[in-house]
Amino acid sequence: MARAAILQRLTWVRATLDFVRRETPSARTLSFTSPAWAGHRPGQHLDLRLTAPDGYAAHRPYSISSAPTSGRFELTVQKAPGGEVSPFLAEIATPGITVEFRGPLGGWFVWAPDQRGPVQLIAGGSGLAPLMSMIRTHRNAGHPDPMRLLYSTRSPTEMLFAQELAPAGQEVRKGFDATEATTVFTRSSPPESMRKPSRLSDVDLRRYCLAAVSRPLCYVCGPTPFVEAVVQILVAIGHDPECIRTERFGSESDE
Ligand SMILES: Cc1cc2nc3c(=O)[nH]c(=O)nc-3n(C[C@H](O)[C@H](O)[C@H](O)COP(=O)(O)OP(=O)(O)OC[C@H]3O[C@@H](n4cnc5c(N)ncnc54)[C@H](O)[C@@H]3O)c2cc1C
Repeated sequence: MARAAILQRLTWVRATLDFVRRETPSARTLSFTSPAWAGHRPGQHLDLRLTAPDGYAAHRPYSISSAPTSGRFELTVQKAPGGEVSPFLAEIATPGITVEFRGPLGGWFVWAPDQRGPVQLIAGGSGLAPLMSMIRTHRNAGHPDPMRLLYSTRSPTEMLFAQELAPAGQEVRKGFDATEATTVFTRSSPPESMRKPSRLSDVDLRRYCLAAVSRPLCYVCGPTPFVEAVVQILVAIGHDPECIRTERFGSESDE
């Protein structure tokens, strides 16, 4: 990468909050505009910095949940109770405020429409954000190869992007052209669900994911314990570790 491009990614740049969309009682999508934003690769994140009037600043990484476009990006933030940055983004920030960001960042946990072959996405809680960027890009491109999502979240009310993934509140929904999304719940399920609320198991991964024999490229994202448990299961049921990419959001569980 050219030196100028690297320097640009490491420099703090201003963005304006354009609008917000409530996703769940504790999560919002925030849409920012910035003339400096040249787009991103699905799966990438950025560092977002907030500065208080007294000069105190805090920054955190957030994945980009929108499909790539220049001049605009969206972040989907889940409130971490007692946290410093996420409660402001998930509850308080109003359109018109400015923040600083640097990025996009990350070159491994990315998917591009020119990649061929089946893809299995597995998300826990807000780990769905970067995978949503992949899903939207895959759908916009009319990609011919399958992309399947297995999403684990606490309850139907905690489900991110519910309208896009399961407009009818169904547990299993074939909602995209070549994308099939399955949502499972860890704490409470819809009454019609046959599956007891629980963390993902080998039974779920065998039932809802592309088979290991088709060698899908697997992207796993969520809280660290979630990612580690899912990777263990994937390997145990025959997936090649070389075909597994992970992104860990930290130890606080929101799934
Ligand atoms: C690559 C990457 C991408 C990410 N993308 C997203 C995303 O798309 N969406 C998203 O919602 N999150 C994402 N995250 C997580 C995000 O960066 C933050 O970690 C998250 O929002 C919490 O930040 P916070 O400032 O609110 O909480 P923090 O202030 O960092 O605190 C985190 C938790 O620790 C607790 N805590 C803090 N200090 C203490 C203490 N001294 N003792 C005990 N407990 C304490 C808080 O109560 C809180 O629950 C991502 C993380 C990474 C690494």
